[in-house]
Amino acid sequence: MADEKDETRGLMKTESGRRLTKVLTDDYLNLHQKAAGGAFVVWVAIIVPVELFYGFDNVVFAVPESHAALSAAKGVGMLQCEKAEQYGYSMDICSYARIDIGTAMSGGKDSPTFGLPRPHLLVSNNNNCSLLVKWFDVYHREWNVPHFILDVPFCYEMQKEKDLKYIVAQFRNLVQTIEKMSGQKFNIDRVKEALRNSSAAAKQYKRFIDCAVNRPSGITAFDSFVQMAPLLTSRGRPEVVNHFKLLADETEEKINKGEFPVPKERYRLLWDSIAPWHQLRKMSTRVAGLDANIIAASYTSCVGSIEGSYEFLQEYRDEDPFESLARIQNFSVCPYGIKLRFNAMSWAAQHYGIDGFVFASNRSCKVYSVMQMDLQKWITEKLGIPSIMIDVDHADVRKYNEENAFLRIEALLESIDTGRVRAKT
Ligand code: SF4
Repeated sequence: MADEKDETRGLMKTESGRRLTKVLTDDYLNLHQKAAGGAFVVWVAIIVPVELFYGFDNVVFAVPESHAALSAAKGVGMLQCEKAEQYGYSMDICSYARIDIGTAMSGGKDSPTFGLPRPHLLVSNNNNCSLLVKWFDVYHREWNVPHFILDVPFCYEMQKEKDLKYIVAQFRNLVQTIEKMSGQKFNIDRVKEALRNSSAAAKQYKRFIDCAVNRPSGITAFDSFVQMAPLLTSRGRPEVVNHFKLLADETEEKINKGEFPVPKERYRLLWDSIAPWHQLRKMSTRVAGLDANIIAASYTSCVGSIEGSYEFLQEYRDEDPFESLARIQNFSVCPYGIKLRFNAMSWAAQHYGIDGFVFASNRSCKVYSVMQMDLQKWITEKLGIPSIMIDVDHADVRKYNEENAFLRIEALLESIDTGRVRAKT
């Protein structure tokens, strides 16, 4: 089937997009079916090492943050947030949490996946944010489900060996807890295999997002937002490796054929925050209409990397999967101190040839946003790259104003032009 491409749109419909829908649909169906068939269900925060669950015969996992992102992208984020607010949860709480609580408290009503099957165990971590722990505690209290909290140290520098050992000990404890609760035996060889699949999938995903290095870029950051879902909900499975390999192949092929999401690309921008899930098509279309492309994002660039870097971590300690999994507990941006974030963003600016930064001050995710003003100052002073700050919320559309955002985006493009004129004279 021919691809549907419209040069006024930044986001293209592709075979990979259709395959992604199938991967995700199959995954949620499988989750519901296995849960209904008696599988032990774990709800996890995104950084929790789900590869460990493959070590059991019949343990399945669900990722509430991913389900919340999908709900927002499908247009039901505000509806679910309002349900949580009616239960008394403040509008200031992260919209992922409100969507999830709204969905859970209404028995999965209005969810694109019919909600998530009830968990036997909740596993959260605290290096992304402490809100996650409080959020999962809601179900611990309401449903009387045990809550296992992984205490992962926040990092201002490279992970220390003692921190790695501390995390490994908690992983071993988690495995013992599941063995005891589910009555199932743990097989470490299956974890090794799942880890190899996760690593291979992340490597292919990196190949895909690196198509942004091309001029014009072969992708938009919005493509990378959409495509990252299986890395969170389905990692560890061989089908996911295959999906990302085909995605990278297909994207490189398009570059070779001269097909680009923004063919007349004049401005290459980097987005710093979580995806604005409710605005994917609208924002990518409008940005493309300005001959600009948000080609990369700190949120997706960090996949498969470690502290202070967006480069792919090549060395997995395969012989001890507990250590490998502990080593990548800081792959996301939120657990970084400001120096690590600046290092990673400087690398990205150079690697992708960035003309301007869009800092999206996220009303929900305080931990992502709290150091952005300082980062913005550093980017201007040390890299000399123009930037703007816009207000957004990743999943609650009520906290976003399109005209205000675009007023600033257009101002950013003007300052890039001014800088180019100055550089010529
Ligand atoms: S506050 Fe940020 S890190 Fe915490 S759950 Fe919400 S989006 Fe994730």
